[in-house]
Amino acid sequence: MFAGDADIERAVAELGLALPERLKPLAQMAYDYRWSWSADGAAVIRAIDPDCWERTHANPRRLLTETGRRQLEQADRDSALTDRIERLSSELRNDRQRPWREGAFSPQHPVAFCCAEFGLHGSLPIYSGGLGILAGDILKEASDLALPMVGVGLMYRTGYFHQRIDVTGFQHEYWLDADPERLPCVRVTGADGQPLTVTVPIGDEDVVAQVWRVDVGRVPLYLLDTDRPENSPLGRWVTSRLYESNRAIRLAQYAVLGVGGVRALRAMGIQPGVYHLNEGHPALGVFELLAQARAEQPTGHDDLAWRRVRGQVVVTTHTPVAAGNETYPRDELLAMLGRIADLAGDRERFLSMGRIDPDNRDQPSGLTALALRASRHANGVSQRHGQVARGMWQPMFPGRAVEGVPIDHVTNGVHVPTWLQGPMRELLDRHLGPGWLTRADQTETWAPVNDIPAAEIWAARCAARRQLVEMITGRAIGDRLRRGEPLDYASAANNGFDNGRLTIGFARRLATYKRLHLVALAPERAIALVGGERPVQFVFAGKAHPADHEAKEVVRRLFALKGFPSVSGRAAFLEDYDMALAGQLVRGCDLWVNLPRPPLEASGTSGMKSVLGGGLQLSVLDGWWAEAYDGGNGWAIDGHVDADHQAQDQRDANALFELLERQVVPMFHERDAEGVPQRWVAMIRRSLVTNGPRFSATRMLREYADRIYCNG
Ligand SMILES: *Cc1c(COP(=O)(O)O)cnc(C)c1O
Repeated sequence: MFAGDADIERAVAELGLALPERLKPLAQMAYDYRWSWSADGAAVIRAIDPDCWERTHANPRRLLTETGRRQLEQADRDSALTDRIERLSSELRNDRQRPWREGAFSPQHPVAFCCAEFGLHGSLPIYSGGLGILAGDILKEASDLALPMVGVGLMYRTGYFHQRIDVTGFQHEYWLDADPERLPCVRVTGADGQPLTVTVPIGDEDVVAQVWRVDVGRVPLYLLDTDRPENSPLGRWVTSRLYESNRAIRLAQYAVLGVGGVRALRAMGIQPGVYHLNEGHPALGVFELLAQARAEQPTGHDDLAWRRVRGQVVVTTHTPVAAGNETYPRDELLAMLGRIADLAGDRERFLSMGRIDPDNRDQPSGLTALALRASRHANGVSQRHGQVARGMWQPMFPGRAVEGVPIDHVTNGVHVPTWLQGPMRELLDRHLGPGWLTRADQTETWAPVNDIPAAEIWAARCAARRQLVEMITGRAIGDRLRRGEPLDYASAANNGFDNGRLTIGFARRLATYKRLHLVALAPERAIALVGGERPVQFVFAGKAHPADHEAKEVVRRLFALKGFPSVSGRAAFLEDYDMALAGQLVRGCDLWVNLPRPPLEASGTSGMKSVLGGGLQLSVLDGWWAEAYDGGNGWAIDGHVDADHQAQDQRDANALFELLERQVVPMFHERDAEGVPQRWVAMIRRSLVTNGPRFSATRMLREYADRIYCNG
């Protein structure tokens, strides 16, 4: 039904040949990430060879090809395991056979969801943070809702960087080759059996791109890759790294994603009903759409052609930070994209489309302005971000008041079956009734949470924390020894972290506006918290962009606290934050802290994941939390904008510690005769019942589908 079906079938058949009879159904799972959100999916595949599972970053294709014959045969003889394989496989087969959702879209005319990064799973390193993980969650949810959708992105050979921290707290970066030949994907071939390719004019070169397909349940994700022998070394490099620091290479990537993406869909016989640009990066595709619309119009009807393009395109903007909406002066743009500008008919028109004021020739051009101008609908990603975006882009709409700027919002949500795993998944599956995950966006679905006995919720929370502490201990010791720390400091992680202790998490991209530095602003209070009578433990993680020196400095300042004796066993910075680590942290932490400088957090999604794991939120009233906080489902820090950043930081750090010292810590330790913190558990219930349905990807994607995609 989708281009590449035959390529997937061939790969599955080939892998199946190498597997014993009862393991053959796993071959299908090696090429479809659908298993990753089934309750038993990861556990079943891991059981074949747990060491190999770790080593391959939970990549089933690699596990099945790299494990030994002995492990495969042993699994084949284990009837309990083969029963589970059979059950899982029939669950996934039934899922595939559901009819597509009725409506405007079909596999021939799907929603084309275009994004520079996709976070589907830890084994596919083509994402950096929230934007990509949201994109991955949307594809998964489209599969669950049987909404015809295809994803369009780039296959970065070396993906996003990996992180190491040295003894001084300084971040180092390195890149690993992802090698698509070992990832759960296939190369799409054409009718001639050769790899299907498209070309994209970049500078003087016609850069050739091939297409990989990764299945996300029923949704195919097509990833363009310029590592082709026809290309110059520079052309081959284009899709090498995500968020490449070189501006010219970034422009080339946007050309491949936008223009190449539209051309690839066409070459594959897919005619999208709507193009959803997730952030401005894929926006250059509108010029290719324009060229196609023109070819089908009588000449001289440019306005009609543009109207047709606009009618097919919607955009979501994610970032209220200037650096995320980069702009380019004309010479820089035309050097790389001059021939794409020619698709627009004339180069001045091309440049003007990306300016705030199209007539001001001194202004640089950017992709977000282009996307806003070339689409029929635009939205931000939370209620507050909608307001911020209207204010920020108001100059593009002279004569309109801020409230009249045509940007609304769809608040983000998270894919519940992906992020709800472990003991809380078992608990909710037990209590919310069969099929509840398909109704995760409805308030009634979550109502039975109110009747789950406190002792049961608490037991699930304690089990989840125990798993987390085990992981922290293991990783922290390895991180520390690798850094060259003394043995006693490294082993302090071993006896320091405690299964019963209030565990506080802070993990996200380390952009400066996320203000991790607030924790270190009042060092004596932080140290009193970990070393006091009722000690807490902290776990931190996050990567700073390689060029963000200020963010790297924040990690260094945090590391300056490690010399305090009580800290070594009660606080850890875990290296190389990724989806796998994020999943473990949001499952286990009791309290999830978010300290963005308002109004710069467009939405934030890690807190929503933490809610699902029964974590409580302590956050600045910005992004999603500004609309989620109801006075009793977590804790809040004032979200007003203050031009005096230093004063605001002092005030907010103070608010953070006041809340921790006076409310969070006492409530966690207030226990009944059975040792259950009744008030804490009541807050978990309230958090699940109020936030669970509202911040699910089910609610989010239904909003996109019903309100935005369909109104063309
Ligand atoms: C969810 C997630 C994010 C986004 O978290 P925020 O709190 O929104 O910044 C970033 N990185 C990873 C790995 C995630 O899983």
